[in-house]
Amino acid sequence: MSAGVQVSWESPVASVGGKHYKKIVKATGVETVGDLLGIFPRRYVRKGALSELEDLKEGDLISFVGEVVSSVQKPYQDKRTHKTAYRLEVWVKAEDGSLALSYFDRQKHTADWRTRELARGRVGMFSGRLKWFNKNWQLTNPDSRMYGAAAEDAYASMPDLIPIYSSAAAVNTWQLEETIATALDLVADVPDVLPPAVREAEDLIGVDVALRWIHRPDSWGQKVAAAKRLKYDEAFVTQTVLARRRAAIEATVANPRPGAPGGILDRFDERLSFALTDGQRSVGEEIADELGRDHPMHRLLQGEVGSGKTVVALRAMLQVVDSGGQAALLAPTEVLAQQHQRSIVAMLGDLAHGGLLGGADGATRVALLTGSLKAVSRRQALGDAASGEAGIVIGTHALLEEQVQFADLGLVVVDEQHRFGVEQRAALSAKASALPHVLVMTATPIPRTVAMTVFGDLDTSTLSELPAGRGDVQTTVVPIQARPEWLERAWQRVREEVAEQRQAYVVCARIDPDEDGVDEVDAPLDRRAPLRAVEELAPELAAGALAGLRVEMLHGRMVPDEKDRVMLAFAAGEVDVLVSTTVIEVGLDVPNATVMVVLDADRFGVSQLHQLRGRIGRGGHAGLCLLVSAADPASTSMERLLAVAGTRDGFELSRIDLEQRREGNVIGIEQSGGRRSGLKLLSVLRDEDVIERARAAATSHLATDPDLSGSPALAEAVRRLEESEQAEYLEMT
Ligand code: ADP
Ligand code: MG
Repeated sequence: MSAGVQVSWESPVASVGGKHYKKIVKATGVETVGDLLGIFPRRYVRKGALSELEDLKEGDLISFVGEVVSSVQKPYQDKRTHKTAYRLEVWVKAEDGSLALSYFDRQKHTADWRTRELARGRVGMFSGRLKWFNKNWQLTNPDSRMYGAAAEDAYASMPDLIPIYSSAAAVNTWQLEETIATALDLVADVPDVLPPAVREAEDLIGVDVALRWIHRPDSWGQKVAAAKRLKYDEAFVTQTVLARRRAAIEATVANPRPGAPGGILDRFDERLSFALTDGQRSVGEEIADELGRDHPMHRLLQGEVGSGKTVVALRAMLQVVDSGGQAALLAPTEVLAQQHQRSIVAMLGDLAHGGLLGGADGATRVALLTGSLKAVSRRQALGDAASGEAGIVIGTHALLEEQVQFADLGLVVVDEQHRFGVEQRAALSAKASALPHVLVMTATPIPRTVAMTVFGDLDTSTLSELPAGRGDVQTTVVPIQARPEWLERAWQRVREEVAEQRQAYVVCARIDPDEDGVDEVDAPLDRRAPLRAVEELAPELAAGALAGLRVEMLHGRMVPDEKDRVMLAFAAGEVDVLVSTTVIEVGLDVPNATVMVVLDADRFGVSQLHQLRGRIGRGGHAGLCLLVSAADPASTSMERLLAVAGTRDGFELSRIDLEQRREGNVIGIEQSGGRRSGLKLLSVLRDEDVIERARAAATSHLATDPDLSGSPALAEAVRRLEESEQAEYLEMT
């Protein structure tokens, strides 16, 4: 490309040219020059520093710069081909350590070329996976980039800080570095999302300089200043999106649903078989009060698994029914929707038999709408929803379909929020003639800043206590690499519990043994070991370790009738052991289940394990959760399992989980530079102060420029973030 050519922020990556851009596009999914420049270095190494060698573990991918201090070619007999092959043994020295490299070549001429490339005295950058071999760290066939011929020149021409980008399998850090450097030289129009007044108040450097300094800092000072600016940008854009949502909500009115004394809610309360906890009572009052206002409620109810969120939601729904409106309850899975319907109908008794013989006075109806309903039941449910006959309509995202109409939708309850996006809430709200009240429930406790970032448009209530009389749940890791015999002990515990008339869950990471992916699990860390699968394990257990027990399986690919049959049978105590995938993760409520064995537990995320274990210990009996894993006892996977075993504090666990997931997808957006937006530098855990300031600044900026017409770059960034959330939503449905 000739000098003077400029490319624009929006140009395709191809306009940057160079040898690597095609590979980069393929490996990272970046589309525009702006996307490319949004791939920030993961870290930086000082020239000559062999970074963090002490912290490294076998299998880690490292990149470092150093000088070749010895290089010896050794011919050897290849065992497979019986021909002569060549091994090049290289020692590379950096400031704080040295490392062995081995290269293997079949052809004499490539081996000789390599020997010249990696001659003693040359300086290069190397990137590969670490192996501990012959009492040394070594890299086998690492990628390398060699600098000028003599060490002194090479060092002189190198920057002091070398950016290291996360290498995707197919692109290494310097291919990214080179392409990004070219793009930086060519791009002329870096969009500035910050209003000048905000930038000044925050004492931030210009975005153009920040972008250059984040990629090619001359000093740590530059890197820090750049990160500070770009981090603030992320916070400001996110908070602007949320402030806009809040403003939109504040500008709307809702029908007040104050309830009616002596109505269905009061009668429900009279017959409730347990006393509400203090938390349920006070959160209930808060909600009752808000439902009575002419402003839509937007409330997040968080509470530990088993804290009794459902009854809080049901009471809110009944208040709306008492006010002549309807309530919709949106559940993330079919199994959960069915369970809600069953338990709500059971709790309501004849209060749910509206219009039927034997129905109580003023009773209502509870309709269930899921994707798998037979035509007749579906018609009935649709009719009950549209006529208003059903005061409560429960469903999966089948509820969002266009044919679903309500007579007067007054309240939307979303259970287990982490499965639903903002857009889905919006889709359901759109079915109401006036904006309905919204109650979102989640069992994953959320640190305050995360709540502010992710759910910035919601007020939060928390149920912090469990109802009295709950059994304790003990969690134990079963490390079958070190202690293979403990697995048999685990099955024995299952047999013992069943002998006491209790029930058990066995959870697998996948459905059938032939799947190559890890389907329903959050954390596919290591695909090498074969994973236990439901369809294989269930018959195996029934014939072996759990012979004589009633074993059934449950997973997402079973036909709905069959799923329903198995769930009902398990709930009725007609099945002793349920072998399943994570379909049971959310909300299942079978108080008699006391033991859970999670196989390949290292494949599951922290929150997921916490949710899973919330399925047991729901009755008065103590629960036991066994996390079986073949992970290396010294691995981070094992650490994670021990953390889960070590605490039942969901708050603490969600913190660990966020840290482990590097926080990237807390707003459902991957961290990888590939996506068009997302949080790269901002940490919702550590940057509380930045988030608070950005929130205030975004709110006051919106007051002066409500439609963002005065801030086109900000408007564009906001549009993209909103669009990516929408994309997320489309992928989920
Ligand atoms: P979660 O908050 O995890 O959704 P649920 O709403 O499913 O929890 O409640 C768990 C169980 O506790 C249910 O069987 C429910 O009937 C019961 N429960 C709820 N509130 C109370 C209470 N105050 N006292 C006793 N049991 C309760
Ligand atoms: Mg629940």
